[in-house]
Amino acid sequence: MNNKELASLMFPNIDKDINYYEEKYPKRNLPEGAVVTRFAPSPTGFVHMGSLRTAFIAKKIATDTKGVFYLRIEDTDEKRSIENGIQGIIDDFKDFNFEIDEGRICETEEKGNYGPYLQSERKEIYQTFAKYLVENDLAYPCFATEEELNEIRKNQETKKERIGFYGRYARSRNLSFTEIEEKIKNNKKFVTRLKSPGDFNKKITCKDLVKGKIEFPENDLDIVLLKSDGIPTYHFAHLVDDYLMRTTHILRGDEWLSSLPIHVQLFQIFRFPTPKYCHVAPVNKKDGESIRKLSKRKDPEAALSFYLEKGIPINAVYLYLMTTANSNFEGWLDQNKNLGLENFKFDFKKMSASGSLFDLDKLLNISKNYISRLTATEVYQKVLDWSFTYDKHFYELLKKYPDYSIEIFNIERMQKKPRKDFSAWSDIKENIFYMYDELYNHEDVNFNLVNTSEKHKEIINLYINKYYDINDDKETWFRKIKELAIEVGYAPEMNLYKENPNQYLGNIADVSNILRISLTTKITTPDLYEIMKLLGKDKLQERFTKICV
Ligand code: GLU
Repeated sequence: MNNKELASLMFPNIDKDINYYEEKYPKRNLPEGAVVTRFAPSPTGFVHMGSLRTAFIAKKIATDTKGVFYLRIEDTDEKRSIENGIQGIIDDFKDFNFEIDEGRICETEEKGNYGPYLQSERKEIYQTFAKYLVENDLAYPCFATEEELNEIRKNQETKKERIGFYGRYARSRNLSFTEIEEKIKNNKKFVTRLKSPGDFNKKITCKDLVKGKIEFPENDLDIVLLKSDGIPTYHFAHLVDDYLMRTTHILRGDEWLSSLPIHVQLFQIFRFPTPKYCHVAPVNKKDGESIRKLSKRKDPEAALSFYLEKGIPINAVYLYLMTTANSNFEGWLDQNKNLGLENFKFDFKKMSASGSLFDLDKLLNISKNYISRLTATEVYQKVLDWSFTYDKHFYELLKKYPDYSIEIFNIERMQKKPRKDFSAWSDIKENIFYMYDELYNHEDVNFNLVNTSEKHKEIINLYINKYYDINDDKETWFRKIKELAIEVGYAPEMNLYKENPNQYLGNIADVSNILRISLTTKITTPDLYEIMKLLGKDKLQERFTKICV
């Protein structure tokens, strides 16, 4: 028996060769410099914020260079797969408007010419590539049992030697063709191992786009390529998939960095162009004094559903992610507030090699600024969409009063320093509820919020009967409040009050606050003049009357 015959014996059902696949998935016809990259999650059912960040960066480079970004589902590890796990990822992407150029679009469908994009549907392809290695004496079947492997490991531990299947420990390398033939014919289970050509005492230098050049010993482990059920390991699937899908750049978690010598070796053995690698450090979080990984279990903000429920605009999340990806982005955003992310070009050189810190407060601040730049109609539409799922009662109100609601959102909006009191859609109701009779309750009015509470009824009565006129412009409105203050013995200006506090019962701010609290139950609101104008005479009258009786 020769290697070719051994390969046929190991893979009796494989009738294609690697040329077939190379032709089926030809080099992509893309402009010079175009990046082909991907997101390759296991179907665990939900996308972690850290993974979204990596995927976002990958997609950004592809888009910047007019390349391709695709979604490949890595379901070769059954332990990491859950039922409906693919749909969960696809739904998260949909909710985050995260579009892909190619890949899985639902449990059963995909788009693109380089699929299947689900690893469990690529078994035959992996086996074809493994068969090629066996034919070329670069891979072999290994029949070692779990016990034998444990024994090797124990032996290595006792002797304080490097752990693994290499050198003299890679005993299955030495089986004769006759021995192998006999075992296979007796249906003995085997895995396919790489016959590593590496020498641990030699060094190779690998390049990471962010971490720079890193020296590693060559890989001399005869790693498993295919498990006994013919399913590939991550290493081998990475080689086959990223070669055939013509990936140019691999962005992945830095837990894979230590496997880089294996991957580079695999690409070299096949004489395939090695892709460029960027190992992305995990997203960390400050927890008291220590810093730890953002965790699915401990941190609600690790799940994308958190942002949807809170109503943090997705675009704001992306702006934030960009600040964590490129150090020069914040400065750029400051200068280009009204330009979209597509106008900023991602740069590997501006990416930090160590982990990035996830800072929810900073994200909320970005979100607050982002919302302040939207038009009132945009805000209305977004809150309406959000409340449809998360606050039905509020949704009904918004729907009932569209124009009125837009006017509410327009208060202090289109101006140089716009209002910044919402950082998420879920903040809005508690900030503006008083504008709707359905949510305002005069029993919540509490004058203890103002220093002086004795005169509030008198002030309100005077205001509505003598001073208030719906047609007043802002200046006149304010002048009248001053006159009212004087009439009731309050200081019409703050500095007068400060100079002689004993001479007055209160000051101008107290007067406006009495009106403000009566109408809104709150001590801080946007511009009171605008609020009053919008509420209109009838509502004002009604609210003031209820308080004064
Ligand atoms: N399925 C791998 C993981 O979830 C993907 C790594 C990669 O992007 O190559 O870690």
